Amino acid sequence: MIKVEKLNKSFGDLHVLKDIDISVRESDVVCLIGASGSGKSTLLRCLNFLELKDNGKVVIEGDEVNQDTHDLNKIRQKVGMVFQHFYLFPHKTVLENVMEAPVYVKGISKAEARKDAKELLKKVGLGDKENVYPSKLSGGQKQRVAIARALAMKPDIMLFDEPTSALDPELVGEVLATMKELALEGMTMVVVTHEMGFAREVADWVVYMHDGRIVEVGPPQELFHSPKEQRTKEFLDSVL
Ligand code: ADP
Ligand code: MG
Repeated sequence: MIKVEKLNKSFGDLHVLKDIDISVRESDVVCLIGASGSGKSTLLRCLNFLELKDNGKVVIEGDEVNQDTHDLNKIRQKVGMVFQHFYLFPHKTVLENVMEAPVYVKGISKAEARKDAKELLKKVGLGDKENVYPSKLSGGQKQRVAIARALAMKPDIMLFDEPTSALDPELVGEVLATMKELALEGMTMVVVTHEMGFAREVADWVVYMHDGRIVEVGPPQELFHSPKEQRTKEFLDSVL
């Protein structure tokens, strides 16, 4: 679904991503872990072209994306993204928030978008909140609306950038449960997270990044219990 080769990205003099290689197969759940500033968000943003690489290859569903000639909006429709902060439209109801992009970006009829949105809201456990405005929701509920909103575009891949980091601790579980359900349904997911329990339980692969490089990749059992690299071990010792 995703293949990245020798991806490099700098912001001015700051070399943020260094020769990143990564591949994600269909239905894989990949958790990206690493210290703040290691380049996790930048990598995720390069995967849906919110940031443009300096060089290297990004292949999405077999198609090598040339950022100068491809219609990036088309590709972004295949790759949904959920952020730490939810960015819901405050003056629209929950249902309208979920319907917005399918209607205005994809041009789907309002009737169809409404039907899909209702189903998605049920799926994330918010079927009873359709007509509520975001200000009336808890952080966990808002984040679940954001997930429904991303799913409304029917993406093939979902990217999550620390989706629970801004939440009160008691609200983290409901969002992780929604993500886990999505993973079990076979969604291909790349998740930046500090929730090591989630990574251990749900990830097929854990990727440890340090200073713009991928230091180690492994199944959670291996990476958490017998990391090969000293850096990985030090990082895990500091967070677990
Ligand atoms: P992480 O998500 O792992 O915390 P980021 O990808 O956000 O790391 O950031 C990696 C480095 O790139 C940091 O030093 C950050 O300050 C820098 N950075 C990120 N985005 C920008 C930007 N738009 N302009 C300049 N520097 C940036
Ligand atoms: Mg980040």
